[in-house]
Amino acid sequence: MTDIRSVGKFEYRAPISLDEALNILRTSGADARVLAGGTDLVLQIKQGQVRPSLVLDVKGVPELNRLEWSEPDGLHIGAAVRLNKLLTFNAILEHYTMLAQACSVIGSVQVRNRGTMGGDICDAAPSADTAPSLMCLGAKAVLASGNG
Ligand SMILES: Cc1cc2nc3c(=O)[nH]c(=O)nc-3n(C[C@H](O)[C@H](O)[C@H](O)COP(=O)(O)OP(=O)(O)OC[C@H]3O[C@@H](n4cnc5c(N)ncnc54)[C@H](O)[C@@H]3O)c2cc1C
Repeated sequence: MTDIRSVGKFEYRAPISLDEALNILRTSGADARVLAGGTDLVLQIKQGQVRPSLVLDVKGVPELNRLEWSEPDGLHIGAAVRLNKLLTFNAILEHYTMLAQACSVIGSVQVRNRGTMGGDICDAAPSADTAPSLMCLGAKAVLASGNG
């Protein structure tokens, strides 16, 4: 059985723009953690693997919820877009079948209803199911931090 310990105190912030999120990160400590769907992070906090002083919930950041496709520009997936949303996005089903297949095998319906591709990649587990298809499709990650 999983050993669930008491969760230490941490500050919780839920910014509503990318600028606000980056400003908070700029002034926070190195132990701050970004929260997307929380399917990995919440468990890690409960198990005491990470003890963040700040949890920054990015689900409400519009820039990170962008999901767009166009013929010339291709596919843009915001880091906070949930996996189940990707699985109902026609452009992915039509043009990125490999990615749709990868998303469809992640966890369960409940996990896909909360989890994001951003979280799958940032968690950096060797078993992350979306990583191989993203590499095969030549995906590029757009990174931002409080310092640029
Ligand atoms: C029961 C169960 C089954 C699972 N099955 C699978 C599976 O089959 N395949 C698979 O690949 N994964 C699986 N997972 C792992 C997990 O659900 C996925 O990796 C999911 O996509 C994580 O997304 P999330 O939004 O919940 O991430 P979170 O838990 O919110 O975050 C995960 C990590 O990424 C960081 N992070 C998140 N977003 C950002 C961001 N925008 N910028 C910087 N850092 C960020 C967080 O700080 C944290 O360290 C499973 C998990 C559970 C609990």
